[in-house]
Amino acid sequence: MGKTSKDKRDIYYRQAKEEGYRARSAFKLLQIDQIFHILDGVNRVVDLCAAPGSWSQVLSKRLYENSPNKDDVKIVAVDLQAMAPLPGVKQLQGDITKLSTAEEIIAYFDDKKAQLVVCDGAPDVTGLHDIDEYIQSQLLLAALSITTHILMDGGKFVAKIFRGKDTSFLYSQLRVFFKKVSIAKPASSRNSSIEAFVVCEDYSPPCGYVPQMIDPMVNDVQVSAEQTDSPVNRSIVPFVVCGDLRNFDSDMSYSLKSEDGKEYEYKEVVQKPISPAYKEILEKTKNLSLKHQNYLIKEEASAFQENE
Ligand code: SAM
Repeated sequence: MGKTSKDKRDIYYRQAKEEGYRARSAFKLLQIDQIFHILDGVNRVVDLCAAPGSWSQVLSKRLYENSPNKDDVKIVAVDLQAMAPLPGVKQLQGDITKLSTAEEIIAYFDDKKAQLVVCDGAPDVTGLHDIDEYIQSQLLLAALSITTHILMDGGKFVAKIFRGKDTSFLYSQLRVFFKKVSIAKPASSRNSSIEAFVVCEDYSPPCGYVPQMIDPMVNDVQVSAEQTDSPVNRSIVPFVVCGDLRNFDSDMSYSLKSEDGKEYEYKEVVQKPISPAYKEILEKTKNLSLKHQNYLIKEEASAFQENE
């Protein structure tokens, strides 16, 4: 496959490189904002699971452009992985399931709370939908629990979910904390993907709720639906498609020739991963023949499976 083939198959991948974004995900946040206006009037924002940083790029561009007082703008980006620096964005290399991460965020905000928390977190997908959906829902619960520590009353929370049989349950859990919850599908998120985003507005935790951290693989957030004003188990989940017909269709291939006749020019990715998981094996195998490399990769993979 030639190096231009991904540009042809994935218009948002190509556009991200053209507009200087580190990942095509930038367009998902922009399209959610087109409908929900989550970025209007906010200064303190947390980007959970932020690497390589395209959502942080969108946040920094929009917040510094729009805020009347640039000194009030504070953006924190958290990820397990190291991320190349971005101007105006405070980076924390940390785990969103840890209380210490919440404390560092609040300290950076001078003991104030965030007005918006976004989370595009994703574990490594296995391709088995039920397992991926379960792990994603656990990461969402971890994001929700750190959010209960760092979000101000009335604030907003946007997070990635994988739609599946537990979506209504997740929705009910979120409705305990937020007055309005919608499910958004941006045009840049492929129709073939089970990915969608919850957009939660007006944070108002149940009376007497004490923020807590959860270990996503062990326990759930302990809340009672009875604490809300309205019964949550009978409401209908609003499903909102974000982005209008002017947006590209992420499931289509587009010609490399632009409509205005401009010559196509191949561009490298904006930011290569600085510490990818495959770095170590590439280091180990760089002076070996292809056959030997493949053999070592297979050995490494089976040793890993035995240890799991
Ligand atoms: N929004 C990012 C962007 O626009 O560039 C892309 C995020 S990427 C799809 C998902 C990220 O979630 C990965 O970088 C991964 O390291 C991070 N992640 C997964 N679990 C995490 C955790 N427990 N704490 C912090 N980051 C986590």
